[in-house]
Amino acid sequence: MKKLLTLALCLCASTALFAQTTQIIAHRGFHATKNSVRNSLSALQNAQDFGAFGSECDINETSDGVLVVVHGPMHVKYNVQQTDFATLRAQVLENGEVLPTLEEYLVQAKKNTRTKLIIEIKDHNTPSRETRVVQNVLKMVKKHKLVNDVEYIAFRQHVCDELVKYGPKGIKVAYLNGTLTPEYCKGLGYTGIDYNIGVMQQHPEWIKQSQALGLTVNVWTVNDTERIQWCIDQKVDYITTDNPEEVKRLLAK
Ligand code: MG
Repeated sequence: MKKLLTLALCLCASTALFAQTTQIIAHRGFHATKNSVRNSLSALQNAQDFGAFGSECDINETSDGVLVVVHGPMHVKYNVQQTDFATLRAQVLENGEVLPTLEEYLVQAKKNTRTKLIIEIKDHNTPSRETRVVQNVLKMVKKHKLVNDVEYIAFRQHVCDELVKYGPKGIKVAYLNGTLTPEYCKGLGYTGIDYNIGVMQQHPEWIKQSQALGLTVNVWTVNDTERIQWCIDQKVDYITTDNPEEVKRLLAK
C-alpha cells in the first residue's frame, strides 16, 4: 500500500514537472530547413515532422476576401490586403511554392494535430474588416473540425477582443503587443500573453504573475542560445523561434 502511494506521488510529481516544460512554437513554420520558406505549406509540414508543439502562421485578407498565409504587408510588389487573390497567387514564393490559403493550411494542419496551429491575425485597415476576418477564420477552423487544435494571437486588441467575443468557449487567445499587464489581459478574457523577448526581459515578473493567473506565457522571436536559455530558466510556457533545433537541444540538456 505504502509503495503504491509512493508510486502515485511520484507520478503526480512527474506530471507536474512535465506540465512545466517549455514547449517549442516554430515561428512561421519550421522554415530554416529543407529548402523551405516562411509561412509556406512545407514549413508547416516540417514543424509537424519535427514534433513542434505549435506552428505559427500569419493571416491576411486579400482585397477579394480570401484568407491567405503571408506575413505582409507586401508580397513581392503587391500590398496583400489591397490586391486580389489571383494576382497574389501568381507570384510564387522564393522556393517555388504557391502562396498558401488559410484553407490549404488547415488541410495540412489536420494531417497531424499533435502540432497545434498558432494563427496570428494581422492588423487590417478598419475594425469592421478585422471583425469580418476574425469571423471568417473562426468559421473555417470550425468547418475543418480543428477548434481544439488552433490557438490565436494578435497585436491588435480589437482582434483579440473579437476572438473572445465570437470564438467558442475555451478559445485560446494571446495578446502580442506587450503593452498590457497580465492582470489586464486576464480581465479581457485572454488566455495568454505572447510578448517580445525584450519586453519580457524588462518585465520578468509578468511571467510568474501570468502563470499564477492561469495565463500562458509565450515569448517571441527567440533565436539565440543565451536568450533561449533565459526563457527556459524562467520556465515560460512557449518559446516562439526560427531555430527550433537549438531550443530542442537546450531543453534536452
Ligand atoms: Mg507572426
